[in-house]
Amino acid sequence: MTDAIPTTRTPQSSKNGTLKRRTLQSGLTTAAAIIGIGILLPAVFWQSNLPHSGLIVWGLLQVPISLCLIGSLHAQNVGSVATANHLNMISLISWSMCFTALPWLNPAAMGLSPDKAMLIGAMLAVTGTLAATAIQFPRHGQARNVMLSMLAISYAGACLLHREWALASVVAVWFVFIFTTTEVNVRGAMELRRLRTEGEYMANHDGLTELLNRHGFIDSLETQLRQPQRPALALIDLDGFKLINDTLGHQFGDHVLAITGKRLRSALPEGSTIARIGGDEFAALIPHQTTVELRDILDTAHAIISQPIVFLQRKRVVCASIGIAPYRNNISASDWMAEADIAMYRCKQNPQTALWFYDTATRQEAIHRVVLEERFRKALTDGDIHFWCQPIVRTSDQQPLAIELLARWPQADGSFISPAEFIPIAQQASLLVDLGKQALGCAATLLERWSTHPQYCSLTVNVNISPLHLSAGLIDDIRSVFPSMDSRLGIEFVETDLISTIGEAKDRLQELSLSDLRLIIDDFGVGYSSLSYLWSLPFDTLKIDRSFIEGIESDPVRQQLIASIVNMAQALDITCVAEGIETEAAINVLQQHRVHELQGYRIARPQPVEHIEDTLATLYRNARTTRPALEQTATA
Ligand code: C2E
Ligand code: MG
Ligand code: MG
Repeated sequence: MTDAIPTTRTPQSSKNGTLKRRTLQSGLTTAAAIIGIGILLPAVFWQSNLPHSGLIVWGLLQVPISLCLIGSLHAQNVGSVATANHLNMISLISWSMCFTALPWLNPAAMGLSPDKAMLIGAMLAVTGTLAATAIQFPRHGQARNVMLSMLAISYAGACLLHREWALASVVAVWFVFIFTTTEVNVRGAMELRRLRTEGEYMANHDGLTELLNRHGFIDSLETQLRQPQRPALALIDLDGFKLINDTLGHQFGDHVLAITGKRLRSALPEGSTIARIGGDEFAALIPHQTTVELRDILDTAHAIISQPIVFLQRKRVVCASIGIAPYRNNISASDWMAEADIAMYRCKQNPQTALWFYDTATRQEAIHRVVLEERFRKALTDGDIHFWCQPIVRTSDQQPLAIELLARWPQADGSFISPAEFIPIAQQASLLVDLGKQALGCAATLLERWSTHPQYCSLTVNVNISPLHLSAGLIDDIRSVFPSMDSRLGIEFVETDLISTIGEAKDRLQELSLSDLRLIIDDFGVGYSSLSYLWSLPFDTLKIDRSFIEGIESDPVRQQLIASIVNMAQALDITCVAEGIETEAAINVLQQHRVHELQGYRIARPQPVEHIEDTLATLYRNARTTRPALEQTATA
């Protein structure tokens, strides 16, 4: 398979320009024709001995003709090519009638017998009608021109042979007029038709991948619902695409999208409708298959998409999460999309899973999420979300240096809903900014309370903040509770969230780093982000994720990993915190590897604000004694 990128198409704006130019040309020709044929010619004949009543009828006929032409121009402007062509045709036929009337009005004045006048008039009428009809068949331009030329030559020849000069001049004017008007109108009509086709293409397709866009895909989806075939709907979302854009540049990102579109085209069966429906989101309607076949097809598609992409001497693997919603009877297009979206979202939550099928269980889960989201929103408004505190100590002497505020959602029965459950829901519902504000408020209260305490006054209070908050007024929110941007406040950003959102908020982060606040990367190591990229961000502390600490006492590979993280952090003057410390042995190992600070159940569990001072007092009391293994009563 070659990974060449399709070329991009002419921009819409230049097409609009051509359209306007064409309409103007057509308008000018029409105006010239109205003035020349409708007014000047009768004015000339007025001088002849043609009856004036006939010429008045001629003049009056120009009114509907002009109206038709103006209508046709308007129709072209609004893109209604068919209406414009019909109106052009009507005006041309009316004009033919005008010319036809000339010899009939006064055959003698033109040196014709009534029979001959009748015949010539009829011939002119036929020519005009044929020419007018030709507008409807723009592609047969050559045939039309040959036909008109032959008619012109034979008419003019016949007139000259009979020395009927007046008639010959009428015929000559008539043919020049018919030629130019049909040519201009037909060319305009063809151009308009082409532009309209391209315009429709642009409206329904994505320029980068040349696949359908969201609009085009929804149209296809609605059409499919009216067909007897029942395809499956798959949504394919690239993982970590934002990071690619941010770290490797938009050119690389565009290349990834174009290649993914191409790979999807090659991987999905014939008859599939494929689209790029959002930034890094693709959709496909796959012709009816059994579930097993569908799984095979999409597993293969996933494997093909995940092949390395090489561009600008760089190589990256981009994986995808695929959600599949099989057809259900009487489902609407929007519900079908929503079901595939839920499946895709569910798939994203399980990094080990490549595909997720929408089924009854997924549906129940989605309903549960909606209910939980509403309840969480209410709890947040009613002040029912509390913040518990967990101490962080210096490794060397286990003296408390900070506490971390952790959100807790107590239930009526005394249980708690875990942050692991409600934080992703709050994130999805854009409620993390409000939660962050409440955490800042709680931190302000604690710091204020401890500001005069001999020991606690030096403690830092860390709050967990969503990086989305950076672009949603975080700096103002901090200033509103800490006007001096207190140096005892620490802001923790989870690494994975940070790398997926930082692009537009990088400037805010830099601004924040100019203050005295402590900026911390939380859960470091699980985001698989490039270290060089993370180092380019202005953090002064990193918290190594719990998963690296688990079992560290007996795992030399993990120990090696921690050693390298600590070495790098030290070289960059960044403080290292290890979280999830559950055993004495882990403390020993981390001390050997010179990790600066520790947090975990072995030091102290998270607990309500009312209990934290007791715990801190115990920690201070036990500091510098070798190992203060506290048994905490409060658990979360
Ligand atoms: P985190 O910020 O990394 O917080 C540390 C998590 O590890 C806490 O889980 C804590 O209870 C747990 N933990 C601490 N020591 C140990 C240990 O020794 N062993 C084990 N197994 N766990 C330990 P928690 O409170 O369930 O919070 C989970 C995550 O939810 C937090 O991870 C944080 O990312 C998020 N979170 C919590 N509160 C907030 C908040 O107010 N705002 C935001 N945006 N996120 C929050
Ligand atoms: Mg944290
Ligand atoms: Mg953490």
